[in-house]
Amino acid sequence: MPRDYYEVLGVSREANETEIKKAFRRLARELHPDVNREPDAEERFKEAAEAYEVLSDAERRRTYDQYGHEGLRSGGFDPGAGFGSIDDIFQAFFGGRGFGFGGGRGPAPGGDIGVAVEVELAEVATGVRREVTYDVVGACEHCHGNGAEPGTPITTCETCGGAGELRQVTRTPFGQMVRSAACEVCGGAGKIPQRPCETCGGSGRTRQSRTSAIEVPAGIEDGQRMRITGAGHAGEAGAPPGDLYVEVRVAEDERFERDGADLISMVSIPATEAMLGTTVKVPTLEGEEKIEVEPGTQPATEKVLKGAGLPRLNSGRRGSQRVIIEVFVPTNLSEEQRELAEHLDESLGDENLARRNGEGLFSRLRRAFG
Ligand SMILES: [Zn+2]
Ligand SMILES: [Zn+2]
Repeated sequence: MPRDYYEVLGVSREANETEIKKAFRRLARELHPDVNREPDAEERFKEAAEAYEVLSDAERRRTYDQYGHEGLRSGGFDPGAGFGSIDDIFQAFFGGRGFGFGGGRGPAPGGDIGVAVEVELAEVATGVRREVTYDVVGACEHCHGNGAEPGTPITTCETCGGAGELRQVTRTPFGQMVRSAACEVCGGAGKIPQRPCETCGGSGRTRQSRTSAIEVPAGIEDGQRMRITGAGHAGEAGAPPGDLYVEVRVAEDERFERDGADLISMVSIPATEAMLGTTVKVPTLEGEEKIEVEPGTQPATEKVLKGAGLPRLNSGRRGSQRVIIEVFVPTNLSEEQRELAEHLDESLGDENLARRNGEGLFSRLRRAFG
């Protein structure tokens, strides 16, 4: 025995037409299987639709109020018979295409295509134009997509009158329900070539190679995909083409590690220069830049070159380049160098050996790569 219709819609037995409509509208939005992933959503949607079908009709509602479910059925009512899928109900009730999902009928749209392009890190900084070549099902060049051998007549399909689809209109409590299906005679094209094109056999489409220029925006991340609407395979006659998806791979650059919009690079100096201070050249995306290394610089000290990183995809504002200073210890000392180092070592006092900021190598490294 089905549940009580008032209970299903969550309205009182005295609810008026507007309240019933409102209750169904709310439930329909909540239970549409495209948004509601619960396994019983579809069942509950159908239950709500049936309740609405009865309670929105004054005569049926009276019958139901007096005799219940049994009364309706013995009166010849067959719930749900007048309408088809959930999408049909949605379309009739809300107008348009419901939530924009759902069954496309008629000629099939073209499929999507995926291609990949590789760009250099320096190109990520500026953005770049790349040509990609890919195989695509496109409009036949011989017949320009109409499927007829050039110069031969094309007649309008008699079955569908050239519309390409057959429509059936029914009145339901949810509104006018229009169901349409692709015409089987012309395959949805609405037209029938008298002599099919010799190149494409009448389909109007051929497989071909296409080259497109792709604008890769500055700041793109490795692995990001761009969608170029309509650049995919051609659809069947009267249907839209698919999309082209371009996956962008950013080539490794051994000089830099990328951290979002920031770049990290390393520069090595001998321990003596770290003690004395020096100037070093570091590579940036725009060439070399000099940075000052103060006397007493510790290993893994970080220098920040503001604005030398990559632009952010949305704002275009550039990140920084963070330069990590690596300090290495000179080896293979000559006798004289060894003596100098010994003298230096003997002369070092507490004031020379105090750690700067009290911070050790490990925490500096962790900060640098954090
Ligand atoms: Zn052709
Ligand atoms: Zn037709």
